[in-house]
Amino acid sequence: MGIKVCKFGGSSLADAAQIKKAQSIIQADADRKFVVPSAPGKRNKEDQKITDLLYLCHAHAQQGIAFDEVFGLIADRYNGIVKELGLTLDMTPHLDKVKADITAGASSDYAASRGEFLNGPIIAALLGYTFIDPAQFIFFDDKGKFDAEKTQTVLSKKLASVESAVVPGFFGSLPNGDIKTFSRGGSDITGAIVARAANADVYENWTDVSGLLKTDPRIVDNPETISTITYKELRELAYMGASVMHEEAIFPVRIAGIPINIRNTNAPDDDGTMIVSDDDTSSKAQSITGIAGRKDFTVIYVEKALMNSEIGFGRKLLEVLEDNQVSFEHMPSGIDTTSLVVSNSNLQGKLDDVLAGIKHVCKPDKISVFENMALIATVGRGMSHHVGVSAKLFTALSNANVNIRMIDQGSSEMNIIVGVEGSDFEKAIKAIYAEFVG
Ligand code: ASP
Repeated sequence: MGIKVCKFGGSSLADAAQIKKAQSIIQADADRKFVVPSAPGKRNKEDQKITDLLYLCHAHAQQGIAFDEVFGLIADRYNGIVKELGLTLDMTPHLDKVKADITAGASSDYAASRGEFLNGPIIAALLGYTFIDPAQFIFFDDKGKFDAEKTQTVLSKKLASVESAVVPGFFGSLPNGDIKTFSRGGSDITGAIVARAANADVYENWTDVSGLLKTDPRIVDNPETISTITYKELRELAYMGASVMHEEAIFPVRIAGIPINIRNTNAPDDDGTMIVSDDDTSSKAQSITGIAGRKDFTVIYVEKALMNSEIGFGRKLLEVLEDNQVSFEHMPSGIDTTSLVVSNSNLQGKLDDVLAGIKHVCKPDKISVFENMALIATVGRGMSHHVGVSAKLFTALSNANVNIRMIDQGSSEMNIIVGVEGSDFEKAIKAIYAEFVG
């Protein structure tokens, strides 16, 4: 017997029918002992998430506006779910308390956290599991930073003392007892924390897609699902815009060496994506794991004779960015040339000052700006120490008539990043996908 921690996202618990799917998933495997629910999410595109409605109640209360109508929507959702599930739970006292607390000026973190908090007893009653209030077992320090070690000590002891439990996601408490939430989507983080504390064999993250796709489905029709990806590869792809779960959720399970399995509540037979430790060697040579990219970068190209022997040149150049509070993404260099690749959002309104600073401090022979670059990362642990991956990549781009403006291969040899004109972005991703995946 092993231990599985299952986190269910808002769409997996949006109504009684979805909750019943989650229930049958949990009951199909006796290892699924710990369940981390989100708040009920959207039932359809036009619907509202309970968390958003709670934030709205809080905002109204702060402005002294009555929020009975909005709160009524929340109460109806929970009461409807309880009724349809055939439970005898009476939600009224819980709902009344939340409403009274918000009226009395409770914090927005408190208000938002109640979405998960109220869902907890419902799921616990349905499964016959113990309800655990995260306020007593998940801790933040007085600066509002998650206290991993204290939480691990206290929560692991608690989980070891129960047979099975429901731990609502998204929040914990500050040293003074006030409720504190993680950032939006933070139930993923709670799931990872519970997985670590339970010393789980796997952290199952149940959502509405069957795992992580090899590339963006808005660009390539029906891309394949990634069956296995390492934590490091996931970081690379996530940085480039691929997303399936909260980024911070990776850390608690990564240190504990617990794999994450992304699964689909609406297609429970699909294997989903396994996120595994970085030393996994199961990938075939030359195969790639995924392709992701982002548009809207600016390249500042700087040329100066004998740049390579001028001591302190790089420091001076980067200092200009620092002085302007601009971070850079890449810095590909030649002998007498170097380029700074900066995201447009970072550079907004600062380009002229940065250029003036570089001219003043570095005295370049030439400086030019290219404002419309897209970066595409082709990621795969299978490509390290194998000849030919970049040749294949560049040939594919050349056959598609895509001009490569920049190349950067991480020293881990796990990814190749190319910079292309913004207008070639989709074409380039399609070409790389067709070459490596088919
Ligand atoms: N309910 C919270 C949110 O909407 C947390 C979560 O669902 O993960 O952000």
